[in-house]
Amino acid sequence: MQMYKRILAVVGALIVLVLGIVLFSGKRVDLKFARPAAAIGSATTLAVEADAEHGVKNFSAAVEQNGQTQTVYEDKTRSPQRARIYTFTAGQKQATFLKEGPAKLILKAKSNDLRGSTTTLTQDIQVVLRPPTVVPDGRQHYINQGGAELVTMDLGGSWTEAGVRAGNYSAGTFPMPGEPDNSNHRFSLFPYPWDLSPETVPVVFVRNVANTEVTGTFWFKVFPKRFRESTIQLTDRNMQKVVGELDPEGTGSLVDRFVRLNREMRRANAQTIYNLRTNTEKKILWSGAFIPVKGTRESYFADKRSYMYNGRKVDEQVHLGYDLAQTQNTPVKAANSGKVVYADRLGLYGNCVIIDHGYSLQSLYGHMSRILVKVGDTVGKEQQIGVSGSTGMAFGDHVHFSMMIAGTQVDPKEWWDEHWINDRILSKIGPGATSTPASSHTAAPMPAPATQAAASLRHKHGRRR
Ligand SMILES: [Zn+2]
Repeated sequence: MQMYKRILAVVGALIVLVLGIVLFSGKRVDLKFARPAAAIGSATTLAVEADAEHGVKNFSAAVEQNGQTQTVYEDKTRSPQRARIYTFTAGQKQATFLKEGPAKLILKAKSNDLRGSTTTLTQDIQVVLRPPTVVPDGRQHYINQGGAELVTMDLGGSWTEAGVRAGNYSAGTFPMPGEPDNSNHRFSLFPYPWDLSPETVPVVFVRNVANTEVTGTFWFKVFPKRFRESTIQLTDRNMQKVVGELDPEGTGSLVDRFVRLNREMRRANAQTIYNLRTNTEKKILWSGAFIPVKGTRESYFADKRSYMYNGRKVDEQVHLGYDLAQTQNTPVKAANSGKVVYADRLGLYGNCVIIDHGYSLQSLYGHMSRILVKVGDTVGKEQQIGVSGSTGMAFGDHVHFSMMIAGTQVDPKEWWDEHWINDRILSKIGPGATSTPASSHTAAPMPAPATQAAASLRHKHGRRR
């Protein structure tokens, strides 16, 4: 009998233990916004990350304002996935009672375990229904495929971000020279990259805090360009030079290591260059035409290069810049005045200097044997910044020269042409640029009608590229 009681007690304790495990093992779901959400508009896309040990089995989002509540999204699919992102739209389209002003967003998630504990996250949010506005200038915009252009615009309403977008590329805005940072009178210097179809329509865009985006179109004409193709014959000697320098611990055949560098390092370097776009002064640091690097031109902008090894094509890449062959150790000079934002090794570019010329216009010099400047230095036009060489992916002494706008490589040729610079850039934002009436600042008095006449005359002759 004693024995029987003891067994009962043990079984009873086990049942309690199992129930306890079931009831209390359920972990809370961690809810957080995958990107900041401070406001919603008519239909704002929100992304919420739900993180729970065994996943989530039910997620919902509701909005609440003045005592009214509406579920705007619900997902009942059960998933053991640990971190899951729910993307949905919330706004007046989903909850018609919403009015301009404060509201609450209520998120609920149930953990995917036996206990199914529910986590609720309530966030204060603003309802912003008035979209921002953008009015681009009325000028004619002639764009070279692979080149750049500048549009001025007037923004209205409350906005957080604006710029020009063409395909997947975009560039932000700057206040017109001399205007405060938050000025509504702005411009965007934007790239129209080589790999965009010339059918791509560039648009000005503006977004507000609710991520409501408004776009506008402006008059433009794209001049399609034909880019060259070239062939590079790889030899063991060349590949050994590059691989030994850039991938000293790599494994695999020479050609595999070379091709991997050519792809992966090229991509990583492009990202580094892109990230430097915001490291820029909000003013023009340059003056006059940019000075081309001297030397024998070995390749042009956006050459499509086929890499051949033993008669077989092993890779293909687009070369975004100019290669200028040098006699050994020639001085490398800044194409224009600016400020050094990069002076170090940069993968395929070897010893590399990047100069900021203001408003996200930057120039790059690669493969140098020596760098003679450092980050933060101010350099003058044609000041020596280094000595040519063959560091990085270079088979002989040459300088690689590139120019970037908003982190994207463009054809430097336009910037070598003073006429193009005056016509496409300075006539809009340079000294003496025509000021639009929307601008509230008091500019130095100038003979406006004459300036406008000069501007329209320039437009008539503005077809030159
Ligand atoms: Zn190059």
